[in-house]
Amino acid sequence: TTQIELKPKVKAFLEGKIELFINGKYVPSVSGKKFETYNPATEEVLAVVSEADEEDVDLAVKAARQAFEKGPWPDLSAAERARLIYKFADLLEENREELAQLEALDNGKPYQIALEDDIPAAVEHYRYYAGWATKILGQTFPISKDYLNYTRHEPIGVVGQIIPWNYPLVMAAWKMGAALATGCTIVLKPAEQTPLSLMYSAQLFKEAGFPDGVVNFVPGFGQTSGAAIVNHPDVDKVAFTGSTVTGKYIMRQAAETVKHVTLELGGKSPNIILEDADLSEAIPGAFNGIMYNHGQNCSAGSRVFVHRKHYDKVVDELAKMAENVKLGAGMEKGAEMGPLVSEKQLERVLGYIEKGKAEGARVAAGGEKAFDKGYFVKPTIFADVTDEMTIAKEEIFGPVVAVLRFDTVEEVIERANNTPYGLAAGVWTENVKTAHRVANQLKAGTVWINDYNLEDAAAPFGGYKQSGIGREMGSYALDNYTEVKCVWVKL
Ligand code: NAD
Repeated sequence: TTQIELKPKVKAFLEGKIELFINGKYVPSVSGKKFETYNPATEEVLAVVSEADEEDVDLAVKAARQAFEKGPWPDLSAAERARLIYKFADLLEENREELAQLEALDNGKPYQIALEDDIPAAVEHYRYYAGWATKILGQTFPISKDYLNYTRHEPIGVVGQIIPWNYPLVMAAWKMGAALATGCTIVLKPAEQTPLSLMYSAQLFKEAGFPDGVVNFVPGFGQTSGAAIVNHPDVDKVAFTGSTVTGKYIMRQAAETVKHVTLELGGKSPNIILEDADLSEAIPGAFNGIMYNHGQNCSAGSRVFVHRKHYDKVVDELAKMAENVKLGAGMEKGAEMGPLVSEKQLERVLGYIEKGKAEGARVAAGGEKAFDKGYFVKPTIFADVTDEMTIAKEEIFGPVVAVLRFDTVEEVIERANNTPYGLAAGVWTENVKTAHRVANQLKAGTVWINDYNLEDAAAPFGGYKQSGIGREMGSYALDNYTEVKCVWVKL
């Protein structure tokens, strides 16, 4: 196998000190503690990173508060704020190869995918929100001739952001774009499994000209650095993406200080192939819908419902596609699918595969670990799955799909909605009426018709039910980071 050559800047970064980023500087943690991050393809230590805990988070919050209250950040015009965000996006783009290598090494995803999907998505996201900075509008109200009434949409203040490991740089962009456009300041904790690309990008905020303290990064663990952000009395809002269990915990904790909370949590999204679907598109669509990013995707189409007439053909073709995937390390040339992010995720996913087998589902492809070294799982297609099986109910977050049969449209809508989750859904049909009727009835924050996993900075994303609270992206995300003030002026 041929490995992609490490860029000199990446090599230097991995070998150097990787410290917290507080008040515009890389600094060691107060305690001096450090943690290791692993390459999931080799199981070897990739880098050593300073570990933030409560004291560091407190320093970061103080820096963010100072930057929020005192110039230059609050004195900048909206257009100047926009220019800084544009400049940062340009710098991300200039460093795209370095950043894609760090994603490939730290997360395990193929370099080419990080380069062509992740980094451009992050760049576009910042550009999109740079455009919004000058368009955050209030309203005026015709209450009476004696009063002028208007609203101001003010930045909410210091925001705490906690992100997962599946798309490290993109998840940071989803959270930071809107917060910076509205004029907030930020304390963000990357996932402990994948801190590297974000920590590399910290210097680019400095280089772009962001005032000190506007952006602060506190890598560390959920129970320490994460909890300190959620509990800090001077953090005005928490935005979290991750598991539903952690999301519930964060919501309870945040209640103590009545913080605004937005949550982007898990899913068990249905992807429905109706009787009149174009199978030449629906089958690869269903495959990518679950297998993209090795199934480590909150919107993964992990329940594929197939009309009885096409069931065997769809299962066969999905199985063939699964067998043809080229697994390999993120930095291996030509790799199409990488390892899972960690040993914990490997064990979790293998545990679900064993449950699927034990509960009577049929393995049409995969169903086991691949290679001796690294956290690789073969893309797994489970056929003859019923709604009661664990693999049809719980979020697996790996390359494992449950393929289920159905007979009627009414039946499949009911079964698709029969889950505590409601993040996304897909429907494949050539009938425009059916497409919209089904889309209207699915309880999900996003419905894709004849496609899957499309995302864009302009399109809002978030969950119904236990998949979350609030929407990220689009103009909707601006509401997450603003307070509305109503002003009455007696004339
Ligand atoms: P997690 O929810 O525990 O971690 C996500 C982030 O939250 C990380 O940065 C983590 O450090 C932080 N965190 C954890 N506990 C915290 C706490 N008590 N207070 C504050 N922050 C805390 O997810 P995980 O353990 O990495 O993955 C477990 C499962 O979560 C996955 O198998 C998957 O089902 C789900 N998940 C979903 C998404 C998503 O995008 N919806 C992303 C990652 C994981």
